[in-house]
Amino acid sequence: MGQSYQRVLLKLSGEALMGDLPYGIDPTIVQSIAQEIAEVRSQGMEIAIVVGGGNIFRGVKGAAAGMDRATADYIGMIATVMNAMTLQDALEQVEVPTRVQSAIEMKELAEPYIRRRAIRHLEKGRVVVFGAGSGNPFFTTDTTAALRAAEIDAELIMKATKVDGIYDSDPKINPNARRFQSLTYNHVLTQDLKVMDSTAIALCKDNDIPILVFNLSVPGNIRRALMGESIGTLVGG
Ligand code: UDP
Repeated sequence: MGQSYQRVLLKLSGEALMGDLPYGIDPTIVQSIAQEIAEVRSQGMEIAIVVGGGNIFRGVKGAAAGMDRATADYIGMIATVMNAMTLQDALEQVEVPTRVQSAIEMKELAEPYIRRRAIRHLEKGRVVVFGAGSGNPFFTTDTTAALRAAEIDAELIMKATKVDGIYDSDPKINPNARRFQSLTYNHVLTQDLKVMDSTAIALCKDNDIPILVFNLSVPGNIRRALMGESIGTLVGG
């Protein structure tokens, strides 16, 4: 058992909400994620979430198909707001008070992003879901996760994936692939390991925010990670 945490930022990609569907949102998956978050929150942990949009729209893909990149990125940001509202609904179904804050103003459906207000929500035990990424095209929600984690003074970024952590080779191809328990930011950057994009890693490095890469599809993993059990791969200094 290692350290347990008080305030964390959970990064959920759009794909995490998609389950085995080819596109969109699988309500069963979203409910089970909400259930796990409810469980750790009931133990007094403060949880902020940055959610991606890749299950609906990705700017890079739109640009590759001939769209203007910035326009495509704004559409991607709107996709993340759909996911944020879906998560809010699922969390509220399991009695977790939740606020969505959007980096692009959409005041009919979400609060605008206000850092101090987000912190206040967390202190009051509300889950805060950050939508619309950073509000800027040419960025990703991974970079947004690093930025928001620094802003709200989170102790850890939990990066949810479909694998158990970072391996020295692809575990789906090589049965002897070994999982790293921990890695440095520099190792991830120089080896170009596909954990988060390099902007996000650099931001975490500069602000000394550790990143736990873990498998969201194993039930109970959010709780295990937050209680300091040794799962996944911890990227740090
Ligand atoms: N996006 C953006 N600025 C941001 C965050 C996201 O322009 O600060 C856009 C970008 O087009 C991206 C899309 O929103 O492709 C969805 O986010 P992302 O690809 O990071 O989602 P994920 O891979 O986590 O599902």
